[in-house]
Amino acid sequence: MSGLNPPQQDAVDTLRGPLLVLAGAGTGKTRVVTFRIAKLIREGIKPDRILAVTFTNKAANEMQERTGELMGRNLKSKPQVSTFHSLCVKILRRHIRHLGYPAKFTICDRGDQESLARRVLRDIRVSGDTLRPGDLLAKISGWKSRCLRPSDALAVSDNDKDHLAAIAYRRYQASLKAAGGVDFDDLLLLTEDLFESCGEVREQEASLFDHLLVDEYQDTNGSQYRIVKGLAEGHRNLCVVGDDDQSIYGWRGAEVEHILRFARDWPDAKVVRLEDNYRSSGSIIEMANRLIVFNSKRHDKVLRASRGMGQKPQILQFPNETQEAAEVVAMIRRRLQDPAVDPRDIAILFRTNEQPRAFESELRKAKLPYVLIGGMSFFDRKEVRDTLAYLRLVDSDDDEVSLLRVINSPPRGVGQKAVERLIATAVDEGVPAWHLVREPRRLPELPPAARKGLARLLATIEEARRQAENGALSEMAMRLLDQVGYRQEIERLYPDANERDTRWDTVEQLVNALAAHERDATTASLTHFLDEVAIGGNDFGDEKEKQISGNAIVLMTLHSAKGLEFPEVFLVGLEEGILPHHRSVAAEGEAIDEERRLCYVGITRAQERLTLTLPLSRMKWGRPRDTIPSRFLFEIMGKAEHAAKYAKRAKNQISGRPWKKARKKG
Ligand code: ATP
Ligand code: MG
Repeated sequence: MSGLNPPQQDAVDTLRGPLLVLAGAGTGKTRVVTFRIAKLIREGIKPDRILAVTFTNKAANEMQERTGELMGRNLKSKPQVSTFHSLCVKILRRHIRHLGYPAKFTICDRGDQESLARRVLRDIRVSGDTLRPGDLLAKISGWKSRCLRPSDALAVSDNDKDHLAAIAYRRYQASLKAAGGVDFDDLLLLTEDLFESCGEVREQEASLFDHLLVDEYQDTNGSQYRIVKGLAEGHRNLCVVGDDDQSIYGWRGAEVEHILRFARDWPDAKVVRLEDNYRSSGSIIEMANRLIVFNSKRHDKVLRASRGMGQKPQILQFPNETQEAAEVVAMIRRRLQDPAVDPRDIAILFRTNEQPRAFESELRKAKLPYVLIGGMSFFDRKEVRDTLAYLRLVDSDDDEVSLLRVINSPPRGVGQKAVERLIATAVDEGVPAWHLVREPRRLPELPPAARKGLARLLATIEEARRQAENGALSEMAMRLLDQVGYRQEIERLYPDANERDTRWDTVEQLVNALAAHERDATTASLTHFLDEVAIGGNDFGDEKEKQISGNAIVLMTLHSAKGLEFPEVFLVGLEEGILPHHRSVAAEGEAIDEERRLCYVGITRAQERLTLTLPLSRMKWGRPRDTIPSRFLFEIMGKAEHAAKYAKRAKNQISGRPWKKARKKG
């Protein structure tokens, strides 16, 4: 247990009762959590009685690894380290039937949600000009993260658009449930419902663990907060760690209040504060401290550097965003000439998903290895979504979303009319559509071609089910794809040979992943595999790809950089409208404070070197437009009066919405 300072040691030694570690960035909070898990095990607590919850899959994997290193790898059981979402999936699989959902519920992905939203809007005759499916989903997700059910949403809607969206939300939720599906936000919400409506379920789940530890507690939303409480109430051994200055999920309903309220919720809680930052050089800490004092509502904290001053962070400006990318990449290339520097030591952090494109193309030109975290994921590719839909249909009768996706793809003679008839009959009779596929007698007036097509699909799926039950998962998948003629379909759709190969490779990767699951998982099953996929707990890509990404320059958003650290960080695009984001500029107040915390998170990821960059102009709808330097730059430089001036200018420009007008003009 060496390598802990006295307050860290104190936290690690406090093994019972509620414990809060409230401390700034890089002070070793996550280290306390891992060491504390190790200490609990060493004191005789069975590893599987310990549950640790983190925010991202990456963080969960890292924690699992770090405890493994501390304990040696030969433990009989392992502590459970998971994200909130994967924890909830496990709970719901065991008990969701109490809420009237099938135990084999489907976790819908973004694509499924979009088609459902489109259908709902069509049903209630709302045109795309009034409310786009994407906007509806954003609204629904916003409500769900604030724990508002459809009726609550209706009550808080104070304009026509919200009102419509709330009505659509009710239908969306009903259709989702009828199709045996849940979306990502439901995982939390339904778990909370379950705990509230079924006392015995909560008790049963709570009794599985004697210790609960939560990292990044400042970012818990209402549901997460109540789930944690429900799980810890009995044993009261709850350790939470966090930093109110790094709360960056307000837009998803996280309330920084939860961490500040901890001592009130648990009056006998021990509170530990850490003040020494072990991560960053002194001058980086100085910069971070100078910035964050501009936030009014915060717990005053000390953040002291425990290392030397190091290199001063640089602030660089470039004529435009293309040059910004080119110069940053040129700097990186020069750095990499030093044999002591690895690509993985360097991160480029940005605020919005539009920013990385320029950097990606420069990195490609320079032939430097990079990974873009959280970009277009493997799972958004059409082939992956098709294959998964087939697998989900094999896994569950009730999965209507998947059935509709594959019912005529590849084409098997089941036209739009036939599909509509099938759905209408299913709704009339109140049965899952798949039951009608199984008993086509109940479907009068179906054209013979459609009838034949459905019969073939039925035979294929049933055979696949038998194979899956015998445990031959990857073999089943290959045979299934073969029988439905998926490869021929790809060949038909894409005349270009390269493209065909890439697309077919994607399918192969998925089958490989299924094979890996069969080989490695303690309890391999199709349901398990699909769960892992849905909540992103599975690492895809072949070995070669992984090796490259294992030592590559990291490109990621500030949101996903939380908790991580890199020797060298480039924080790019420090301009009004980007950081702070234009939505926050328009909203002012709290929203700007959250952007400032986001900037603070970015700065405090850097260990030795930090560069902030600003392009002086950026293309907007085909024209270069002058940028306004981010107010945060001036705050960092101690020129608050300039910050205010530029903030005002940004607000004027952004409320004028020049680019919205430009878009309307086309
Ligand atoms: P964040 O707020 O960004 O999540 P954190 O508070 O969780 O940061 P850690 O990631 O646990 O901080 O630690 C930051 C770095 O400091 C890590 O590299 C960690 O190994 C190191 N560190 C923490 N405590 C000590 C210590 N007592 N001695 C030496 N190094 C330490
Ligand atoms: Mg941490």
